[in-house]
Amino acid sequence: MSGLLSGKNIIVMGIANERSIAWGITKSLHEAGANLIFTYRKERSFNKLTQLLSANGIEPLLCVSCDVADDDSIEAAFREIQAKVPVIHGLAHSVAFAEKEDLQGEYVDTTREGYRLSQDISAYSLVAMAKECKKLMTEGGSIVTQSYLGAERVVKNYNVMGVAKAALEASVRYLADDLGKYNIRVNAISSGPIRTLSAKGGVAGFTDLFSAIQEKAPLRKNVDQDEVGDATMFLLSKLSRGITGEVLHVDSGYHILG
Ligand code: NDP
Repeated sequence: MSGLLSGKNIIVMGIANERSIAWGITKSLHEAGANLIFTYRKERSFNKLTQLLSANGIEPLLCVSCDVADDDSIEAAFREIQAKVPVIHGLAHSVAFAEKEDLQGEYVDTTREGYRLSQDISAYSLVAMAKECKKLMTEGGSIVTQSYLGAERVVKNYNVMGVAKAALEASVRYLADDLGKYNIRVNAISSGPIRTLSAKGGVAGFTDLFSAIQEKAPLRKNVDQDEVGDATMFLLSKLSRGITGEVLHVDSGYHILG
């Protein structure tokens, strides 16, 4: 894998701590030789990110603040990126958000504001980022986002986020069609559940999912950030150059079960 992404400039969004899926992605991309640009929202995430990078000997090209709920913040982030890195080749989008009260009980009780917020941050953000990336992906590129099975099926308590992930996966297909002519590919990974800050603190009954997968998934085990990181790296690399508009399941095969 070493050298597969040498000379490629890739933006990674969504590291809150060492358990984040985006941290697994970072390790895989670094190992493949990519130059990395990071975006963060909270100051706490920035502090964690800088600690993690220095502890792992990863020298970033840039770390920029970017709140995907705010167009001005996205534009400012890309101005800063463009000034330092005029051409980018990849984007790893690994951000989502819904209010805790919308990730329990019944979906029918979702509020208008809860629905809007989850769609905005978890689905529209990919569109907003793709629009900016397109301007800098002048040598072609690859965009990869993170989805979940709750987009395709009812997963208890995932509720409003399942609907946001369905919109995210549909966006992957529409964006893939728009951007293919610029040699920009757009794909999603649909990962099995992983114990991260958002997942543990957000989705009610989240830990129950693990035993079902351990027991029933074809591979009889849960996946981790490193497995998702490697699959994301594959979709960001030329090894996947014939693939776009795809949702690749990294879930020990759980999604094939009826
Ligand atoms: P983390 O909590 O580690 O990461 C979530 C990230 O989203 C954080 O870095 C957070 O930044 C960022 N974020 C939230 N709101 C905004 C915003 N307005 N602007 C910019 N960034 C924002 O959780 P995960 O690693 O689990 O989540 C990453 C992705 O993986 C999400 O899309 C999630 O839905 C998806 N996924 C997760 C699964 C799991 O089981 N963990 C399974 C399948 C998919 P900050 O902390 O700075 O606010």
